[in-house]
Amino acid sequence: MSNTSSGAEISGDSFLRGAIRRELEAAVGIENVIVDPAVLQQQAYDWSWMSKFLEYRNLPLPAADFAVKPGSTEEVVEVMRIASTYKIPVVPRGGGSGTQGGTLALYGGISLDLTRMNKIINIDKKSFVVEVEAGIDGPTLEAELNKHGLTLSHYPGSYNLGATIGGFLAARGSGVVSTKYGKAENQVLQIEVVIPPGKAIETLRVPSHAGGPDILQTFVGSEGTLGVITKATMRIDPIPESRSFLSFLFPDIYAGLEAGRLIMTNRLRPATIRLYDEEDSKKLAEWVGTPVTGNLMVVMVDGDQELVDYEVKRITELSTQAGGSALDPEIGRIWWDGKYEPYAKGKLPALPLVFGTMDTVARFEDMPKIYKARKEAIESEFSEYKVRYTAHFSHWYDWGTMIYDRFYIDQVPEDEVEALRLHERLWNVGTKVSLENGGVLNDHHGVGQKLGRFMHKQFGSAWPLIQALKEAWDPDGILNPGKLGFGPPKNSRW
Ligand SMILES: Cc1cc2nc3c(=O)[nH]c(=O)nc-3n(C[C@H](O)[C@H](O)[C@H](O)COP(=O)(O)OP(=O)(O)OC[C@H]3O[C@@H](n4cnc5c(N)ncnc54)[C@H](O)[C@@H]3O)c2cc1C
Repeated sequence: MSNTSSGAEISGDSFLRGAIRRELEAAVGIENVIVDPAVLQQQAYDWSWMSKFLEYRNLPLPAADFAVKPGSTEEVVEVMRIASTYKIPVVPRGGGSGTQGGTLALYGGISLDLTRMNKIINIDKKSFVVEVEAGIDGPTLEAELNKHGLTLSHYPGSYNLGATIGGFLAARGSGVVSTKYGKAENQVLQIEVVIPPGKAIETLRVPSHAGGPDILQTFVGSEGTLGVITKATMRIDPIPESRSFLSFLFPDIYAGLEAGRLIMTNRLRPATIRLYDEEDSKKLAEWVGTPVTGNLMVVMVDGDQELVDYEVKRITELSTQAGGSALDPEIGRIWWDGKYEPYAKGKLPALPLVFGTMDTVARFEDMPKIYKARKEAIESEFSEYKVRYTAHFSHWYDWGTMIYDRFYIDQVPEDEVEALRLHERLWNVGTKVSLENGGVLNDHHGVGQKLGRFMHKQFGSAWPLIQALKEAWDPDGILNPGKLGFGPPKNSRW
């Protein structure tokens, strides 16, 4: 279907639809309102297993009625005003690299594509901060920062898949150097957000203060359900002078976890620690060519040479103390150089596999039991499907770490309902283990549609407070309805 005006939209039931479309066109330009069903499908699509499954079976995704591509905050405000007037759902979209079904337009409405808003507004070289429009993607921003000897220090696995700054913040994203440089939520100073019924607001200019509750961190992680992030000011860093790599092999995963705990609680600051269990180290070898399998840890430290040398020495001592044997540091470098390879070379899991990444984050005290319980639960409950379970630990905190564990079943059931049921059962089992053992729903992929049904369990008696916040900030429920455990829009028939 072309994007030119359609006779079907001038009378009867479609009259209102046509009128709204023309209002949207007046707001953002005729070429930036698209109703072509193929484009609407692309806009709904993300990297979730559900999206991939529907595509694999040639089934339509729940899609919006209009894809709208604003070019400025003022245009987003105007779109929000129109959406609020007619109570039309608004589903923000950055690069569509999310894995939780966040861009599925479950109740139709507007898919709000922010990728035209991709300007760098200001680089403050004195404070080391950059202000950008939310639709800029990581590599584009990084290339510009690098020209000034600076870096965003945020390199997620989806780095080359179009992920945007708005998406980093919307889903509390994490990059491979987060252990030293923090997650997106730690890197952000200030955001501009557009909220219903059509208003742009700014959070405070600085993120650390005693000036009352933290509105910034309420929008961060809200995945488009509380507002549309239109601008962000992010901390940036000088490109490190030097990088060194280390690698260790441990007799079991628990010794590796203990090494990581020692490194972090001694307050060393490696940029990266990745600890792979035996099964995941085999995948790593296949994907990036690391020459050793087993309970493998790779570490990268960066900064000025003296600091790097000191950290290499101390990390080696602590890892050895935990039972590790030092391996050729080159293995760490192979990992670093190949870190985007699986994505670039199409080695990522794909249908007909049933697969999912169930990351969670927990204290050091809780993580060993989460790993053990989750591996046992997945392997025993789905043994009839010959399920495989792999795990690594990739983001480390002062008090704990995150587990990035995956399930794989080779053949998706023929019956479509059965396939979706199996996929959800795997998540039910995996999520139950996290929540019962001190973990949370997710570390950095977000909640989206996929994990929304667990939000009330995760928050327990605090969940009504979060529902009340949503009710107050988005009274018509038009912002990304059906995500994060929030229900449908108040008036879904417009
Ligand atoms: C292979 C692969 C590897 C990945 N590795 C990582 C990783 O290492 N670290 C990591 O953190 N994530 C990772 N992800 C997940 C994903 O890439 C991130 O969540 C990313 O930050 C999403 O950004 P995006 O712009 O693509 O968002 P989208 O997928 O477009 O949207 C994600 C959610 O955010 C909302 N949203 C997007 N932009 C805005 C905005 N401006 N305002 C309000 N809401 C908005 C959407 O409505 C949606 O709910 C990976 C994904 C894949 C497929």
